[in-house]
Amino acid sequence: MLKNEQFPAGALEIIKKLKASGYQAYLVGGCIRDRLLDLSVEEWDITTAAKPDEVAKLFPKVVPTGIEYGTVTILLPDGNYEVTTFRADEKYVDGRHPANVVFTGDIHKDVSRRDFTINALAYDPLADELIDDFAGKKDLNNKVIRTVGDPIERFREDGLRSVRACRFAAKLGFEIEQRTFEAIGQTLDVTKKVAPERLHDELVKMLAAEKPSIGFELMRRSGLLKQILPELEACWGVEQPPEFHKYDVYWHSLHSCDAAPKGDIVIRLAALLHDISKPSCKKDFTYYNHDQVGMETAENILKRLKFSNEEIGKVSNLIGNHMFNYTSEWSDAAVRRFIRRVGLGNIKALFALREADTRAMEREIDSHYLVELQKRIHKIVEEQNALHVSDLKVDGNDVMQTLNIPAGPKIGRVLDDLLEKVLDDPKLNDREILLKMIKTYA
Ligand code: ATP
Ligand code: MG
Repeated sequence: MLKNEQFPAGALEIIKKLKASGYQAYLVGGCIRDRLLDLSVEEWDITTAAKPDEVAKLFPKVVPTGIEYGTVTILLPDGNYEVTTFRADEKYVDGRHPANVVFTGDIHKDVSRRDFTINALAYDPLADELIDDFAGKKDLNNKVIRTVGDPIERFREDGLRSVRACRFAAKLGFEIEQRTFEAIGQTLDVTKKVAPERLHDELVKMLAAEKPSIGFELMRRSGLLKQILPELEACWGVEQPPEFHKYDVYWHSLHSCDAAPKGDIVIRLAALLHDISKPSCKKDFTYYNHDQVGMETAENILKRLKFSNEEIGKVSNLIGNHMFNYTSEWSDAAVRRFIRRVGLGNIKALFALREADTRAMEREIDSHYLVELQKRIHKIVEEQNALHVSDLKVDGNDVMQTLNIPAGPKIGRVLDDLLEKVLDDPKLNDREILLKMIKTYA
C-alpha cells in the first residue's frame, strides 16, 4: 500500500526500535492522511503503547515537549519526531480539555478519540498494517470531512474541532459531510469558550491553504465567522461600485486573500482585512478613510486573535497604505515621501497586496505602473537619497550648537523640517548647506 521509501529514515528507525522492545508503534494522523493523498508531510507523528518514560529510555536525545499529554520529542539527525503514548480520553470538561489523559495499550481506543475519520488513520510501515476503523480511507477518496462518531457529541467535547473541520476543508479542498456541517452551527456555544491561542493556530493553518476562502465561507455559512470574525461577516452583501467591482466587500476580501502569496501570512492577513472597515465607512459608493479606520479595526482583530505585535504592525502598515494612487506624474519628491511613509522594507509586500487586491476586481487592471514605480524607487535607493532624519548630514548636536539652545522638542522639529526640504531637493543634504539653513531657525 504505502511504500517504506515514502517515510523518513528517522521515523522508521523509531518504530523499529519501539517494536523490537515489544511496544506497538504507528505513524498516525495527518502524516498518513497526507501521504495517502500524495501531499508533502512536515510533521511525522508516532503513536505507541510505550509510556513516555519507556520511550525516553530507548533514545539518547528526548525532550518532554507535551508530557501531560503523553508526548515526547525524539531528536534524530534527519529531524524531530513527536511520539505520543496511545490515549483514551473518556471525559471532557468545559468543551476544551480532556479532564484527565488516560494512557491505553490499545491503538483502536487511540484512533477513536481523534477528530475526523481522515485523521484517525494509523499505519505500521514495518508490518504494512493500516488501522482504519472509521472508513477514513474511503472518506479520503470521496474528499469528505466527517467526525469520528456523533458530530454534535464530538464538537461538544472540544469546540475547536468545528473550526478544524473548516480548516481541513480549505487545506484539502474537501467537503464537510452534511451532519458534521450541521453540528457546527449547533455547537457554537462550545466554540465560544475555546482559547483564542488555539483559534489562532487553526486560522494560521487555514491562511496557508491554497484557497483560504473555502474555510472562511464554511465558517460564515455555519455561523462560526460571526462569532470569531464578526467584522468580516459584516462585509457580506455590502455592494461596491460595479464599474470596478464584481464582488461585494466580503467576496472581494476572500478572493484577494486567495490571490495573495500562499506562504506569507502577513500579506494574506492584509489582503483579507484591507477593506474591513468599508462597511462602517460606506456612504453611497464611497468609503472615506476606510484605510485608516481599517488599520485600527485590523489591529483590534489581530490582537484579539493573538497574532504577534510584529505581525500586527506589518499588517496594519500595509492596510494603512493600500490606497496609494501612483501615476507617472508623481514627482521624485513624491516617490521619496512614499518610500518614507511605507518603509523601504515593506514596499515589496505592499505591491503584492496591490496585485492580490487588483486580481479580485471587475477586470484586472494593468499593473505595469507598479514596475515603473519600483524602478523609480530603486533609483532613489541607489542614489542614497535621505529618507529619514538619521540620513541627514547634520544631527541634533549641530542644531543645538548652531542655535545655542539646549536639548528639547525644538531640535526634532528643526530636523523634521530640514528633512522635508531635503525630500523635495536631495542636493540640500550637504553639511555646509544644512548648517546655514539651521541658522534661519534662530
Ligand atoms: P496538519 O498537517 O495540517 O498539522 P494534522 O492532522 O497533523 O494536520 P494537527 O493539529 O497537527 O493536525 O493534529 C495531529 C493529529 O492529532 C490529528 O491528525 C488528529 O488525529 C489529532 N487531533 C489534533 N487535534 C485534535 C482535536 N482537537 N481533537 C481530536 N483529535 C485531534
Ligand atoms: Mg500536524
